[in-house]
Amino acid sequence: MSFPTLGLLPELLRAVEEKGYTVPTPIQAGTIPAILAGRDVLAGAQTGTGKTAAFVLPILQHLTRDAGKAPRALVLTPTRELAAQVADNATGYGRYLKLRTAVVFGGVGINPQIDQQRRGCDLLIATPGRLLDLAGQGALDLTRVRYFVLDEADRMLDMGFIPAIRRVLKLLPPERQNMMFSATYSDDIRALAQRFLHNPVSVEVASRNATADRVTQSLYRVPKDSKRHLLAHLIQEGNWQQVLVFTRTKHGANRLTQQLEDAGITAAAIHGNKSQSARVRALADFKSLRITALVATEVAARGLDIKELPHVVNYELPNVPEDYVHRIGRTARAGSTGAAVSLVSADEEPQLRDIEKLLRRSIQATPLPQFPILNTPVRPDRPAARDSRRDGSTANFRTPNGGRSNRRSGRGQQGSGRESGGGERHAEGHAAQRSQATHRSESRSSQSVPGHSRGGEHGRDRRAGAQRRSERATPEPERAGGSWRRA
Ligand code: AMP
Repeated sequence: MSFPTLGLLPELLRAVEEKGYTVPTPIQAGTIPAILAGRDVLAGAQTGTGKTAAFVLPILQHLTRDAGKAPRALVLTPTRELAAQVADNATGYGRYLKLRTAVVFGGVGINPQIDQQRRGCDLLIATPGRLLDLAGQGALDLTRVRYFVLDEADRMLDMGFIPAIRRVLKLLPPERQNMMFSATYSDDIRALAQRFLHNPVSVEVASRNATADRVTQSLYRVPKDSKRHLLAHLIQEGNWQQVLVFTRTKHGANRLTQQLEDAGITAAAIHGNKSQSARVRALADFKSLRITALVATEVAARGLDIKELPHVVNYELPNVPEDYVHRIGRTARAGSTGAAVSLVSADEEPQLRDIEKLLRRSIQATPLPQFPILNTPVRPDRPAARDSRRDGSTANFRTPNGGRSNRRSGRGQQGSGRESGGGERHAEGHAAQRSQATHRSESRSSQSVPGHSRGGEHGRDRRAGAQRRSERATPEPERAGGSWRRA
């Protein structure tokens, strides 16, 4: 199977060729002809399979047939990052066509989006909340939509978007072609599919664990309070340049980011309490290797496509086993391979059992190496603590049997040269993280070196204020079923 045999326009073939794609992925081979033929499609595919091109390419082709101001194709995604990513892809695939792609999501000003809708677009990619806001304000006309895609439908359900999806569907004209992409099929997903797909072509490309099969998976059994030290050790010893780390909570993501920074590893957190600009910046810094570690909650990182991401770490195991597959699917994208490491504390054994049941195999446990328990000195402010450690801070080493010995940390090279991106550009994120660090009881450094403070009471209040401000700027939180979940 080759791209020209799929029936795509020369302009699209050219864009695809320039992307470097030589053969269609199975999901593309299965869905593109069906969508071009006007059929509704139910596709079982997760991110990493090339599913975005699978629906974007044929939709762009349909859109060349007529024109108008109001959007004629609508793609709904669960997260802002995925929306931005789909829009980027659509712009790339459509670069030789005269079509306009627009993207709308929460967390950023609504006025530019209203202006953009006034100017008009052909393909609109949106998260449900902001889409409904715009429609409610009369700033968006959805009556011309002929092609509708529900992307990552299972995630949409998880995040409690069903009522919003129903409301969006009511705003669409009945005559339209529908496509639904989902990594997993639950009864709810099937019910949703029945509600709005008409006689769909079903395309199931591979088992949902196909991506997982290409990822080298391993785990360390490690006490909870040693995880951060082990993680710092793995990153530094392995000279990892880019690692996506998953925590279960937003608070945990902030705390771990601070701890990694204290250990001399450039890091940023990405989760729903971060302002959109902070999320975009963290992702850009991570993609361009300006920071080594991106610490994310599962929901925020959902669907992120980061090229050739070599390492994914489950700092905490997810409660929902399918999320494990989603998480490690961030590596080994589009046929490449990657490594996923899980740090499993004793209380997480039940989650591990569920994951292994889903994978239908056990995950290899690696013996615990000897790793330092760092007594990180206080950072008065930026730059990060690695400089202080170079100056001779001490470290306790944890041995596999849990014993400790004192050693001087001789390593200081990690991350050198990557400092710049983690500096002032991250002021907002770090302010939030530091404000949490000052409040946490386990802040070893402030206890062990009482002469240092993190900016005194005044600075603390100021930073706590920054944290509160960043929390307020979150119109589309990480929710499930209308209530808070996981994070
Ligand atoms: P997606 O599943 O849409 O997030 O795509 C995952 C990655 O696969 C993206 O980086 C795409 O650029 C890439 N990709 C999509 N289609 C192909 C293809 N036919 N050949 C190689 N890479 C592809």
